[in-house]
Amino acid sequence: MGSNTEPLTFPKPKFITGGCLCNAIRYRVDFPEDHDFLKSSSTCQCTQCRKQTGSLFFSCHKISPASNFQFIGDDFSSGTPPAALKIYQASKQAERAFCGNCGSFIYWKPLADSTEPGSGNKMDYLCFTVGTTDPLYLFGEGADGIEVPNEGFGLALANGGGYHVWCRNEIKGVTDESELLGKGTKGRGIRLQEE
Ligand SMILES: [Zn+2]
Ligand SMILES: [Zn+2]
Repeated sequence: MGSNTEPLTFPKPKFITGGCLCNAIRYRVDFPEDHDFLKSSSTCQCTQCRKQTGSLFFSCHKISPASNFQFIGDDFSSGTPPAALKIYQASKQAERAFCGNCGSFIYWKPLADSTEPGSGNKMDYLCFTVGTTDPLYLFGEGADGIEVPNEGFGLALANGGGYHVWCRNEIKGVTDESELLGKGTKGRGIRLQEE
């Protein structure tokens, strides 16, 4: 756990929009009133996420229920997956959605019939890729300072206050010293060795 005990405050979005690099896939995420922006901001260093993102870690934001994530656009009604959307299953429990045109990784999601080990509760959530959030919401590009603050909502989405998983895969001298990944005096969240 991070040693910084000061409470973290930040503007919270009611919703954000995002999309893939080529714009064939557009989405909107609506946040419930009681959404926990700290616990929902996580990272993953598993090899699957590294291969898919091409990056050393996956910055993800968890939204529950998964229906709060919806596709938007002119060519398809809300909620219908766009034609460019491709699903890849790297494991038995989850699907990874990406754009078949440009390759952008969009979300990781437990399969529809997945249940939590032990409780048997339905795993109805989705982790979207924070990096595909539109610049307006991510860092305030073109923001009006009213609906969207000038600095955007990036800290709400990617504060690292949730779980940092697969830290056993950390890279010495690189990701094992990163505050973004929960280390150091400003590191937040809980570091786990596996998922
Ligand atoms: Zn695309
Ligand atoms: Zn992962």
